[in-house]
Amino acid sequence: MQRIVLASRPRGAASSDNFRLETADIPAPGPGEVLVRTLFLSLDPYMRGRMSAAKSYSAPVEVGATMGGGTVSEVVDSNAAGVRPGDIVLGMGGWATHAVLPADQVRKVDPAVAPVSTALGVLGMPGFTGWYGLTQIGRPKPGETLVVGAATGPVGSMVGQLARAGGLRAVGVAGGAEKCRFAVEQLGFDACIDHRAHASADSLREALKDAAPDGIDIYFENVAGKTLEAVLPQMNVHGRIPLCGTVAWYQGGSDADHDQLPAAWRGILTRRLTVGGFIIADHYDRFPAFLGEVAPQVASGRIVYREDVAEGLENAPEAFLGMLKGRNFGKQLVRVAG
Ligand code: NDP
Repeated sequence: MQRIVLASRPRGAASSDNFRLETADIPAPGPGEVLVRTLFLSLDPYMRGRMSAAKSYSAPVEVGATMGGGTVSEVVDSNAAGVRPGDIVLGMGGWATHAVLPADQVRKVDPAVAPVSTALGVLGMPGFTGWYGLTQIGRPKPGETLVVGAATGPVGSMVGQLARAGGLRAVGVAGGAEKCRFAVEQLGFDACIDHRAHASADSLREALKDAAPDGIDIYFENVAGKTLEAVLPQMNVHGRIPLCGTVAWYQGGSDADHDQLPAAWRGILTRRLTVGGFIIADHYDRFPAFLGEVAPQVASGRIVYREDVAEGLENAPEAFLGMLKGRNFGKQLVRVAG
């Protein structure tokens, strides 16, 4: 089998030197365990945090250990009742061609519902994150205006589509004209601003004023950086900010001016904003409700999704590093086996 391990911790921006491809024997499952063969590996922004030793909401990957990650896999061998070879399962198989997993930590995926890769995207953790953050923390009301960054990614595209369906004005922020066109034409956003076309937060703010003339009621925070700076002064009184991610800052450093902290903090007070940070792992009791509501809409084509599939485990590091720079167009996956 092959696996990709964390070779070293990044100093500043992560690079391909931080990863190493290794070959190992295929492990044997113990009692209550299954051996799986990875079909798809999910690459997610949170993995950048796991590469660092800094204390966070979950433990870092140890140097020399396999990079963790969500996978859709085929069961090859099983020592657990109820899971059979040939079953397709969702689990945390990591950046590897094979994995042994406790059977009680995998969930069967029904290929009849949707292509199995969707269990890692629109019908998996990222889609659920968008649904949860918008409905529970954003508390959207018809007629309001929402802004979301990384608008064509799996979280942002779920947020935008649900907002539109709920009668909100949805404004996306995305990197590049092609992504913005997709956001408007395929995802149904009312407008989309290309942050790459705006060198400064001031310029981005002017574009946002045109796209959101009545101010912003919900800012679904995926990106921070320049977008956050542009948005904050335009938040309406009693606005809500589901604080989901800050990807512009994941590679160390920051394009934010820290002198703005007092103004930002004061703005939250004077505009009576509610900022709600959340980690989706805390909320899986709501996952069945999400699937029940969203899966039929994906099946009917009412909710659309886009995937960006890299081929081969060996290309995972490059695809991951590209995603952090916005090179992915849709949910970033790796096809590990056909
Ligand atoms: P995406 O597939 O959207 O990939 C990340 C995107 O971030 C890139 O494609 C790029 O899009 C955008 N981006 C990167 N750098 C910048 C920058 N400097 N300024 C603006 N945008 C940038 O990721 P996901 O949909 O999977 O995740 C979106 C966010 O949600 C992330 O912050 C992630 O960490 C967070 N998240 C949080 C969870 C939680 O439990 N709180 C769970 C899941 C995700 P573009 O080219 O359009 O700029």
